[in-house]
Amino acid sequence: MARSMMLPWLAPRWHEIVKGIDRLPPGLMLVGTSGLGKLELAMAAAAAILCERRTTHGACGACSACQSLEWGLHPDLHLLTTEQLAQDLPVARAQLAARYLEPDTARGSRKPRQIITVDQIRTVIERLGTHSHGGGARVAVIVPASSLNANAANALLKVLEEPPGDTRFILVSSGRDAVPATVLSRVSVVECATPPFAQARDWLLENGVPAARCAEVLALSSGAPLAALRQYDQGVIEHTARWKADLLRLLEGALLPVSMAASIGNEQAPRFLSWLERLIGDVLARRHGRRDEMQLVGADPRDSDIESLLISRPLWDIMDSLQVYRCRQQRAVDAQLFMEDVLIAIWQKD
Ligand SMILES: [Zn+2]
Repeated sequence: MARSMMLPWLAPRWHEIVKGIDRLPPGLMLVGTSGLGKLELAMAAAAAILCERRTTHGACGACSACQSLEWGLHPDLHLLTTEQLAQDLPVARAQLAARYLEPDTARGSRKPRQIITVDQIRTVIERLGTHSHGGGARVAVIVPASSLNANAANALLKVLEEPPGDTRFILVSSGRDAVPATVLSRVSVVECATPPFAQARDWLLENGVPAARCAEVLALSSGAPLAALRQYDQGVIEHTARWKADLLRLLEGALLPVSMAASIGNEQAPRFLSWLERLIGDVLARRHGRRDEMQLVGADPRDSDIESLLISRPLWDIMDSLQVYRCRQQRAVDAQLFMEDVLIAIWQKD
């Protein structure tokens, strides 16, 4: 990927990486909010390392290495990810990732794994131990590094410290804390910042998101543009518009909590709960004088009704339970029942 094609907010980081590509440390970790495009950066760096005719802007895009990368066939690019994430990757990357995953047919009815297993790490170490196919560099991209379970992380330590031959590891993570300290201490961290609102909005506009929707999808994505675009493409906005209208009716006593929960439905419950947490957080922030473009309330005239009614409810308690729910949602909490409880707490007047 040429620099001009790099996502604009990652361009400064990309420039630094490509400038020092020959001096990259063996272990690099790209850290930043989920949905910024860190995998794009990692893959562009991998392509630049493997390219046979690299330019000052990165991979040439035309040599045989670049071509085989584009088709997901490059033998010296190792992409390790979870079964779950692999499902959302574009074809070429999914093909690379599949070399380290059980075939779908072997998985049967088992849910896709959300971890990178020790077997995946052992396999990559074994393959890196043999000669590179192109006789040159090899790159292993691990995404997300937070999905390495304890055994997988331990298996990785030695090879991170002493990579075989000309091997680079590029890890991707949404946060430092999410990665085992033993891994963190063996990589150089590159922080990828969330872009300023105006830059993110301009990019969303270029990608077909209507101006009136940019702030909301960015708010729902912690300001990360790729995540915001995904939210928009998935039609999240249609849901949130309805949820907001229903929330106002609930606060006014014109809608019962159970009816509202039923109309949201079990499938949308987790998404609704994270939307609600964000909205209540914004109401509380505004109450304390913090206002910015990326808040879920304030842009619409009807928002002031929601704000003034919500503020009389036990918002801190509701926030607490929403946060606890979010931290535990990997475990089987019944989202529908939990949502009803939260809506009852909002509906009841003190
Ligand atoms: Zn090339």
